[in-house]
Amino acid sequence: MGTLSGDMSGGLVPENCQGTVTAVQANFYHVQLQAGAGHLLCTRRARLKKIGQRVMVGDQVIVEEVDFQDRRGAIAQVLSRRTVLDRPPVANADQLLLVFALAEPSLDPWQLSRFLIKAESTGLPLLLGLNKQDLLSKKEQQTWAERLQQWGYRAVFFSVLQDAGIAALEASLKDKITVVAGPSGVGKSSLINRLIPQVELRVGEVSGKLQRGRHTTRHVELFPLPQGGLLADSPGFNQPDWSVLPQDLGGYFPEIRAQLKQENCQFKDCLHLQEPNCAVGRDWERYEIYEKFLEEAIAYREIQQQQRDEEDHLKVKITAAGKQIHEPKLATKKYRRTSRRERHQNLKDLYEKQSLDELYGNDDG
Ligand code: GDP
Ligand code: ZN
Repeated sequence: MGTLSGDMSGGLVPENCQGTVTAVQANFYHVQLQAGAGHLLCTRRARLKKIGQRVMVGDQVIVEEVDFQDRRGAIAQVLSRRTVLDRPPVANADQLLLVFALAEPSLDPWQLSRFLIKAESTGLPLLLGLNKQDLLSKKEQQTWAERLQQWGYRAVFFSVLQDAGIAALEASLKDKITVVAGPSGVGKSSLINRLIPQVELRVGEVSGKLQRGRHTTRHVELFPLPQGGLLADSPGFNQPDWSVLPQDLGGYFPEIRAQLKQENCQFKDCLHLQEPNCAVGRDWERYEIYEKFLEEAIAYREIQQQQRDEEDHLKVKITAAGKQIHEPKLATKKYRRTSRRERHQNLKDLYEKQSLDELYGNDDG
């Protein structure tokens, strides 16, 4: 509706302010102003809405019509983003802090690897923090440190309970936008409460049988760290999915990256499954994890392909009542047979015939 012209708003505001969006709630944006000038609750100028400019948590914005008394303003411009995370939606994140516990719940290489792959796929620098140091002996911790080093990671060990190793973490977080991720129950809320005492996130109990913490869903929000920097808890990051492309997966394993630095594979699209003249050996701990994840990534893609196929084979019919219904264009039976063969054909391209038979049984026909 009738907004002020640029000139008039320019006249109302002595200077424009720049700040960082720390939370988004419906049509309101919390903006932390630069140089400790406090917080504003902002709307978005109609012009931004018109051009479809999204405002994300982490965005650097120019605020106009600032009313310092009521702490209100209007976002007039979103500055270009250095990085964009999808899930959780955060702009300009500098790094990910992946938090796991050394025990309770016990550290599982498979689950840890799933999160590591997801983290690697964002392209953001990664910090790996291992909490509950108090539950393992020095020797057990050393074993983990060496094991992770072989994977290609250097972890920060700490304990929120004993307030140990926190200073090292704080140093790595200073003046950066960090997104915290990790499964529930590992102590993320406890850590954030320790780093930013005024936040007071709920700390869930690790439930006895499942060894899994309580799930709580929240909006993404950036919390200012006392020493400078911002921290986002990321509910959306808790369940890694397999949207990773099979041919990209190898790039998310430091072990594979290191081997490819020495030598290239013969085929550019090599999946490192013993193809001729593959530069990647099998003699490393997580090779079996790589194999399994690759299988999952391929299966995931096939399901997506199958869904697309099914949609292609449906036609939309509008009923007399105005409802949309979907009807198959082809006889369902015939379609199913084709789709299964296609599915297998995809895999055949990727695996030797022998391993395919092992996986799915020889059910051609
Ligand atoms: P979140 O689900 O990752 O946010 O984990 P919480 O912060 O809710 O913590 C889960 C459980 O782990 C709680 O019972 C905490 O008290 C406990 N916990 C957190 N940090 C530590 C630690 O350093 N050592 C031990 N032994 N327990 C901890
Ligand atoms: Zn290869």
